[in-house]
Parts: sequence; structure tokens; C-alpha cells
Amino acid sequence: MNKRDALLDLCHALGEPHRDLVLSAEGNVSMRLDDHTMAIKASGCALATMNDDDFVDVDIPTILTLLDGESFDDRTKATYQASLRSQTSKIPSVEAILHAVLYEITPAQVISHTHPTAVNMLTCSSNAHLLVEGSLYPDAIVMLGRRQVLVPYTDPGVPLALAVREAVTTFMAEEGVAPKIIYLANHGLFVVSDSPRDALQLTEMAVKNARILHGSLAAGGPRFLQPQQVNRIDQRPDEAYRRNALNVD
Ligand SMILES: [Zn+2]
Repeated sequence: MNKRDALLDLCHALGEPHRDLVLSAEGNVSMRLDDHTMAIKASGCALATMNDDDFVDVDIPTILTLLDGESFDDRTKATYQASLRSQTSKIPSVEAILHAVLYEITPAQVISHTHPTAVNMLTCSSNAHLLVEGSLYPDAIVMLGRRQVLVPYTDPGVPLALAVREAVTTFMAEEGVAPKIIYLANHGLFVVSDSPRDALQLTEMAVKNARILHGSLAAGGPRFLQPQQVNRIDQRPDEAYRRNALNVD
């Protein structure tokens, strides 16, 4: 299967109603095509039903010029249009700037953004911080990493892209690797991944983790694994083997 077919399959899977990740045109997905180019969902398309021509190829450095200077509201539409690599009436998703930032600062190959009900039950709560306070079970560590990022609610578009850039840069300085999971408070989930398959698995595990955290709150409160237990799982050779088998590293 070629890369674009795999990307389209990811979009359709993320849009399946039973997953409860997105409704209508919610969410967006992109793929790195080369150092300067990404394919990203066009604005207004539904993940569940989109076609190959609902992706637009855009120039990442052109989009990143939005981060320079003021009055980005006035410049966004024209900049997005200028970034298009081919003639089309479509424009990139409004969050293209956030995808561009993540391709600039991380080795991401595929980025997916959804609004999972299970995740947002927590990001919209006063317990959102618990999503990044610790690890609850071994598979969460193996797949989602020892730590994840939570970004406070920020106006979508350029302000959100700047907030994510700062949070991810800090994370990478501390951890030495890029985060796989970025929670956006009162908004949703960003997954930074190596492949379409990886993006779907990470999304599924983030949803499962949120459901377990939600259930643990109802059952008396979460009991996070101890730091030495987390480090042990993170460094066990058999877990490294499993991580490779899952294609999540
Ligand atoms: Zn969103």
C-alpha cells in the first residue's frame, strides 16, 4: 500500500463513528512528504468520508512565516493559499500552522488531531492535569512514553501553535525525545507518530488511558506507578522488543 493510501485509511479509521473521536469535519491529519512539504486534510472535509483529493500539499516554511510579526488573523488565509503546491480551490485545515510547527521541531512523519470524547471528558475537567501526572499501567508507558504534554487552552491557530511549540521544545530539552502525545486542554488530542498505523494505535491507547483514568477517578482516585516502576518498564529489553513489534518507537 502506498503512503497516501495508508494515510487515507487512517483518516477513515479515525472517522469511524464507533471510535467516538470526531464528528463531521472535526479533526485533521497530515503526513511529511519531504523536509519542506506536508500533505494535510483540506479545511471542511470529514475524516470519515474524505477522498484522496481532499488532501492538499503545502510548503511548510511558507506556513511558518505566519509566526513572524503581528496581525496573523489578516495574513492566515493568504499565507495558507500561498503555501499550496498545486492549483486548487481548497485551503489547508485551520490547524495547518500547528502541524507545520511539529514537523519543524520533531521528527514526526504522521500527525493526527482528534477530539475524542473519552479524552475530552478529562481535558475539559478540573482534573486535566492528571493526564500528565503519571503512568497508570505498563502498556501506557510502552506506547505513550513515560511522559506526555498538556497545553492549557489557547486560541486555535497561531496562538495555539506558539503555545505548543514552547511546551514541546521544553519537553524535548528535558526528555531528549519528542512527545508522542499532546493533550490540548478543553480541545483534544494531537498524536506525533512515525506512520499511519502508529498514529491509529497511539490514538487508541490515549483513549484507553483516558477511560482508565476516568474510571479510576470514579473508583476512589488514580494510583500512579512509582517512578522506579515506570523507568523499569521503559528500559526493560522485552518491552523494547514489544515496542518495536508495535512499531511505536
Ligand atoms: Zn481541534
